[in-house]
Amino acid sequence: MPSKKIDSYDKRAKDIKAKKMIEKEGFELEPRCMPPKDKDSERRQQVAVTNRGQLVPCCWMDQKEVLSHPEMIKMLKVSNVADYDTIDEILLTDEWQEFAKNLEQRNLDKIMPVCIIHCAKRKGRDRQKIETYTLGELTREVKA
Ligand code: SF4
Repeated sequence: MPSKKIDSYDKRAKDIKAKKMIEKEGFELEPRCMPPKDKDSERRQQVAVTNRGQLVPCCWMDQKEVLSHPEMIKMLKVSNVADYDTIDEILLTDEWQEFAKNLEQRNLDKIMPVCIIHCAKRKGRDRQKIETYTLGELTREVKA
């Protein structure tokens, strides 16, 4: 099990990495949990459920250091799946709406480092993967 010292170092490293990425010229955020803005958008991410039964915006959030981020702690307080009849009820809470609004409006100072790191728009050779699917005459590229 990692020591507390290593955990806090990792968290600081992520904060620094995210800050450096934002400062880079041409930085753009493309939240993969939001509806795509253009047809060149990358693979979509869906909501996920932790092994403690809490809804999180995507599986990348299910990491110890992310779950202990102050913004995430606020969201987790209203994210126990067992407390609701539908997932929509969680998505409509003030906490989740605020999270979505900050992503939609690209309020970078209010967005968690994990989102900056995972959902920076990749361009050109920085793309990780392009899959091509062909069905009859139809060909479609999916960028992941
Ligand atoms: S990392 Fe953040 S912005 Fe990206 S898909 Fe997950 S919740 Fe959305």
